[in-house]
Amino acid sequence: MRIILIGPPGAGKGTQAVAVKSKFPVDHISTGDILRENVRAGSPLGIEAKKFMDSGSLVPDVLIIEMMRERLAKVSVGFMLDGFPRTVAQAEALDELMKEMSMPLDAAILLEVPDETVVKRLGGRRVCSSCGAIFHVTGNPNKIEGICDICSGPVIQRDDDREEVIRRRLSVYHKNTAPLAEYYEKSGLLHRVDAGGPLDAVKAHLESVGL
Ligand code: AMP
Repeated sequence: MRIILIGPPGAGKGTQAVAVKSKFPVDHISTGDILRENVRAGSPLGIEAKKFMDSGSLVPDVLIIEMMRERLAKVSVGFMLDGFPRTVAQAEALDELMKEMSMPLDAAILLEVPDETVVKRLGGRRVCSSCGAIFHVTGNPNKIEGICDICSGPVIQRDDDREEVIRRRLSVYHKNTAPLAEYYEKSGLLHRVDAGGPLDAVKAHLESVGL
């Protein structure tokens, strides 16, 4: 199974990808996670990418496409791409890569969420910088302010989850990534899923498209 997940920031791509991975033999490949690992490690890619990530802009296509070429070469089972492609140029590069590897895509899932829901979800999101656990100030608060319930690591707000950055990420999404819906609709791969409701409702919608 080779699937891509598209949607605005805060659509729940990461959460739903983990749920799908528990049911199907797929590698969950998140470009955001790979970039953040590079930033933490201080690699040349991380140093370059950080400038764009902190301001909510997209990392240049050339860097992302090379990074994904290397990552996809290591795939042994199916995959679920979370956060890639994010531009039409990236989608075209992925098509080329899939041709070279004789691995056609099976589906593109578009998680649809209204902008104001995104701002509420991400503005309240907090993450453990040690184990990656995710909390929400109203929906799922950690018990002790600033401390992770699971590993006692520091719970922080991601720099790019500040409201002005969220709004910038949304406008980048509408300009660069939303056109991918039409791109994948033309190739008959697109499935639209309402991701604006609670987690269980989104899971049920995904099940209705076979995931
Ligand atoms: P995410 O965790 O998917 O929201 O990604 C966090 C940030 O990483 C984004 O705001 C971008 O700056 C960068 N990023 C992730 N994936 C891509 C991509 N496919 N193309 C360009 N930038 C990306």
